Amino acid sequence: NKITIAIDGYSSTGKSTVAKQIAKYLGYVYVDSGAMYRAITYFAMQKGFINNDDFNKEALIYNLPKVKVSFKFNEDLGFAEVYLNDVNIENDIRTLAVSNFVSKVAAVSEVREQLVKQQQQMGENKGVVMDGRDIGTVVFPRAELKLFMTASAEKRALRRYDELIERGDAVSYDDVLKNVQERDYIDSNRKDSPLIKAKDAIEIDNSNLSLDEQFNKILQLAKM
Ligand code: C5P
Repeated sequence: NKITIAIDGYSSTGKSTVAKQIAKYLGYVYVDSGAMYRAITYFAMQKGFINNDDFNKEALIYNLPKVKVSFKFNEDLGFAEVYLNDVNIENDIRTLAVSNFVSKVAAVSEVREQLVKQQQQMGENKGVVMDGRDIGTVVFPRAELKLFMTASAEKRALRRYDELIERGDAVSYDDVLKNVQERDYIDSNRKDSPLIKAKDAIEIDNSNLSLDEQFNKILQLAKM
């Protein structure tokens, strides 16, 4: 009897890292819902709907039916990579440029409607671990296990900074911290499906938890 595991929380709380591990261990499908919002943001940037601070929302909404976001499992990596209209964009969506705009794109109701529908279809067969901001509240309100991950903004920015530096991106810690705080603010204050802890979600502050400790804690909860 497989269950649905919904993991929500602020940016860079390490949701996806632990979610991937849990999914692998349980033989579940892992879905990175943030990658889907990032894919649409990348599409808008490519099409020129986003220019510096200018965002042509209407043009994006008009073109949404043409945007196909999909995942394909990569055996070597051990997780599914994200595709935009059948082109692998897994590496293009993690840049600070995309991060700086994604929350504005994710605040567009039409974007959320399209992606939430798709996410619900992906979870129809249970055995899914999905991470995001509204998984326990909107996408799978009846998920058997809901987690809400938190950590201090500084800890989270440091993690994201290390990741970006590792990829070879020239970023400053201050810019990353600013981005993390800005996304927290926009995600928590948008009209449509703001980031809030579901009433029945279990909060995990992982500021001082190792990956192993988080993994074991979540596994224990999944088995109850
Ligand atoms: O998880 P990640 O940090 O990659 O998500 C990028 C952005 O996508 C978030 O800051 C948020 O604005 C948006 N998002 C969302 N709902 C989700 C997942 C992500 O609004 N379920």
